[in-house]
Amino acid sequence: MPSPRYIREIPARYRLEAGRCAGCGRVVYPVRKVCPACGGQDFELVLLSRKGTVVTSTVIHVPPDEFLNEAPYAMAVVETPEGARLMTQIVDCDPASVLPGMLVDLEFRLIREEKKSGILCYGHKGVPAGT
Ligand SMILES: [Zn+2]
Repeated sequence: MPSPRYIREIPARYRLEAGRCAGCGRVVYPVRKVCPACGGQDFELVLLSRKGTVVTSTVIHVPPDEFLNEAPYAMAVVETPEGARLMTQIVDCDPASVLPGMLVDLEFRLIREEKKSGILCYGHKGVPAGT
């Protein structure tokens, strides 16, 4: 089964909804109750651009079982123009070519299929910008 957290965050994940802290302006994704920067609890809803810049990246050679047939693949922290950072898989390119500063588009893709239930989990993946 998908985790309760996954289920709870589905609307935000599908729409790329983030929150902008009223106190300090920090944009957090997914939306949280408490700002990690200032502890504020007032957020305004922000829809993130479907693009961003790779901040850090790593190549996964030994993935969790459900992603076994995708390895090796690149995971990256991507920062959107709004300042939100999200961890996402980068696909449609050589994993070794995913480096900080790379521009990516965030596309809505199938993430995985739950093995027993056949439930399909969707989310965003990064692809090289302009492809
Ligand atoms: Zn804040």
